[in-house]
Amino acid sequence: MKGRIHSVESCGTVDGPGLRFVVFLQGCPLRCIYCHNPDTWNTKGGKVVDSNELIEEMKDYLPYMKFSNGGITLSGGEPLLQPDFVLDLFTKCKELGIHTTLDTAGSVHPANLKEILNVTDLVLLDIKHIDNRKHKEITGLSNRNTLKFAKLLDEQEIPMWVRHVLILGYTNDEKDLTELGNFLSSLHHVQKVEVLPYHKMGEYKWEALGLNNQLTELSPPSNEEVEKAYRLLTKKLIR
Ligand code: SF4
Repeated sequence: MKGRIHSVESCGTVDGPGLRFVVFLQGCPLRCIYCHNPDTWNTKGGKVVDSNELIEEMKDYLPYMKFSNGGITLSGGEPLLQPDFVLDLFTKCKELGIHTTLDTAGSVHPANLKEILNVTDLVLLDIKHIDNRKHKEITGLSNRNTLKFAKLLDEQEIPMWVRHVLILGYTNDEKDLTELGNFLSSLHHVQKVEVLPYHKMGEYKWEALGLNNQLTELSPPSNEEVEKAYRLLTKKLIR
């Protein structure tokens, strides 16, 4: 099956457990003001690849994956914009005994979502804001699907690592973080919470694409601010 990808990272270490073959799929419905991969947005960009060829490429890294308890991660962009491709890749990976991780913002709910989740071992769920109005301000879309997605994962007992990007003045309000922490504490399958400090490494891409970057003057949060956010998010978490 053909799919459209942005790039591949053969030995990723941050998108799930162990060493991972990370495939960044092309296309995203969100427009996060801090996105460090705006070159993944265009659904017609990237390159078309065949899932069998990707699997063959991935096989070269199987020893490293197995040795480190790693696997494959489908990221983006938003991988769920290409649900049939995700299902095909994950099904083939499960046949090979490979751990599968889906890195998503949960904003797209394709018709075959249940089938995809049946072959998904872990979800990295990016919750951008608990406040719907502020979520729309920083991503362009409502957070309703994302929160629904988290509940669906919980019902299906799928482990999730929740990620939250910390941007000063946008996502670091104490009340909002407490409320997001309360939401997380209502779930039973959150294995990990990661606070990702906003960084400026993708800025050159905004410039290259001629996009208006609202955050050029903004500094990344300090370690103390990241730790404080982490405490607020995890205070009531069920483990
Ligand atoms: S969901 Fe990810 S890829 Fe999409 S706009 Fe937001 S940060 Fe960028």
